[in-house]
Amino acid sequence: MDKYLIQPETCVNLDDFTTYYDGEIKKKDGKARLKEHNKTLRDLQELLYAEGKRKVLVILQGIDTSGKDSTIEHVFGDVNPQGTKVVNFKVPSKKELAHDYLWRVHQHTPGSGEIVIFNRSHYEDVLVVRVHDLVPESVWGKRYEHINAFEKLLADEGTTIMKFFLNVSKKEQAERFLARLDRPQKRWKFNPDDLEERKHWDHYKAAYEDMLSRTSTPWAPWYVIPCDRKWYRNLVIASIIEDTIKNLEMQYPAEVENIDSYRDRLETMIAEG
Ligand code: AMP
Ligand code: MG
Repeated sequence: MDKYLIQPETCVNLDDFTTYYDGEIKKKDGKARLKEHNKTLRDLQELLYAEGKRKVLVILQGIDTSGKDSTIEHVFGDVNPQGTKVVNFKVPSKKELAHDYLWRVHQHTPGSGEIVIFNRSHYEDVLVVRVHDLVPESVWGKRYEHINAFEKLLADEGTTIMKFFLNVSKKEQAERFLARLDRPQKRWKFNPDDLEERKHWDHYKAAYEDMLSRTSTPWAPWYVIPCDRKWYRNLVIASIIEDTIKNLEMQYPAEVENIDSYRDRLETMIAEG
């Protein structure tokens, strides 16, 4: 899965990255493998929660329809909601805008034993903010350095960070918008503004390329995931998250001593009714 990892200081050109997987894994097998990853992730999350030491932060970025919501559902669908949290970052409120852009983010970073998933993140502050000139370049241009330092702080204090850029093609995006219109249960997701946003495709592409080139670090790496096939997207992301959490080599807390004496006492209590 390392082929999707962006090495630090790489100059990323998204034209070099395929959005469509046409390798050897078949959809049916891919889906079966995802189920295995789901089970393993559930066990790993339980261990992480029980151990109560490590913190894990997963960041998802990508244009509309790239599948951020659906990834969360399919990759984390089996984990225990206790100890897991999803945070959606929307247009900032007046209060949030009155602070620096990392203020609202830091409050949601994971505590010990927690996995937090960011659906959008502080990266919006070098993406939508840049594309729409919400602040001048003299302001957003400094943010890459802030972000690297912020993520280093989190990592130094015990947070494992994984960042996924969900890469879909322009054609696939149009097809997914159309699918939203065609399915009554999906229509609520369609927002005419999204078509306006699509007009800025090239500008977003440049902003994503700079984000990937400048903020993939040893302590908070970016992965660029081919997302035109949803099942493959889920499989790759689940597999990277599983490998990364496994590498933490977590341990269940030490057992209480004299387990047998407690067993005896409990058996007596049960016998006595
Ligand atoms: P959605 O994720 O589709 O519900 O949309 C959330 C919207 O909030 C997107 O259009 C984002 O671009 C926007 N958004 C998130 N963070 C920011 C930010 N820091 N500044 C401006 N817009 C933002
Ligand atoms: Mg949207």
